[in-house]
Amino acid sequence: VHAVYLNNVILSKYGTEEAKEKYLPEVAKGKLRFQVFAVTESHSGFNTPKIKTFARKEGDFYILTGQKVFISRVKYSDLGIFIARTTPYEKVEKKTQGISLFLVDIRKNRNRIELSEIPNNARRSIDTNVVHLNEVEVPAENLIGEKDKGFYILMEEANAERVLIAGQLINAGKWALNRAAEYARQRVVFEDPIAKYQAIQFPMADAYIRLEAANLLAQKAMDLIESNAPREEVGLYSNIAKYMAAEAHKLATEASIRAMGGYGLSISMDIERFWRQNELQMLAPVSQNMVLNFVSTHALKLPRSY
Ligand SMILES: Cc1cc2nc3c(=O)[nH]c(=O)nc-3n(C[C@H](O)[C@H](O)[C@H](O)COP(=O)(O)OP(=O)(O)OC[C@H]3O[C@@H](n4cnc5c(N)ncnc54)[C@H](O)[C@@H]3O)c2cc1C
Repeated sequence: VHAVYLNNVILSKYGTEEAKEKYLPEVAKGKLRFQVFAVTESHSGFNTPKIKTFARKEGDFYILTGQKVFISRVKYSDLGIFIARTTPYEKVEKKTQGISLFLVDIRKNRNRIELSEIPNNARRSIDTNVVHLNEVEVPAENLIGEKDKGFYILMEEANAERVLIAGQLINAGKWALNRAAEYARQRVVFEDPIAKYQAIQFPMADAYIRLEAANLLAQKAMDLIESNAPREEVGLYSNIAKYMAAEAHKLATEASIRAMGGYGLSISMDIERFWRQNELQMLAPVSQNMVLNFVSTHALKLPRSY
């Protein structure tokens, strides 16, 4: 759900009038699925400026060639935003220059887009894919924002996504705690319900406190985004909200599973999938390490280590 929201915001804010008129009404009617946001490449990982997918201009078209990895929801999408270099890394003054965003009509390029799925246990309901782009044709009006200046739009999307993921983690964490509390109030092993034991209560209470703290950070990040605060400040709070939410969610899902004993791991209790997914959100859309790098260099003004 969140992908389509973020993609639409980008298209509405930075797309050409032609592209907006052509696609947005159909997306709004639910006739077009606009779920793909493709950045990651195998050799570059978190070092996004090093992406190699290239878009060359030919007449009224851009032709995209390259390979993306770990791209979600491609199998069930009609449209997607793909990030490509329009000026090679070696030819730009600043490494974040020369990157552009393209709205790709996946349906029209099915024979030029090859997919192979990467099965994983973190999130089974959504497809994750390697995507080969073989001379994919994109009309020039599907360029989003200015050519070569897409990195800042990408960061704007990334910050909003971090806050959105934080919200998702906070609510999932609370859901898990409530589920486990309900179970613990009923479960009697010795004389009383296990809910009475502090060994059950304290890890859950500790996680609850951290989820609440993460929620305040996410609210703050959201307020900054909505008030068009300086990019640096939005980046800091979006990052730390996501970091705190992922850590709190980890504690919440662990405490919930442990409170439920063996049943915590049974699929039917619907808790273990949140615990599995936590490892994905520790890594994506930004890893905890990359947040620590951001805070070290931007908030604490420490030297960059890489
Ligand atoms: C299920 C799933 C769905 C995904 N969906 C999408 C999608 O739809 N679109 C998309 O574009 N991407 C998607 N991703 C990609 C995800 O955002 C990437 O995994 C991520 O960008 C990192 O790339 P990488 O996995 O190659 O990790 P790497 O960059 O190789 O990093 C590996 C490890 O090294 C650490 N590391 C790297 N550099 C540093 C450093 N300087 N300092 C400290 N630690 C460092 C990282 O934190 C990480 O723990 C998805 C990933 C998964 C697993």
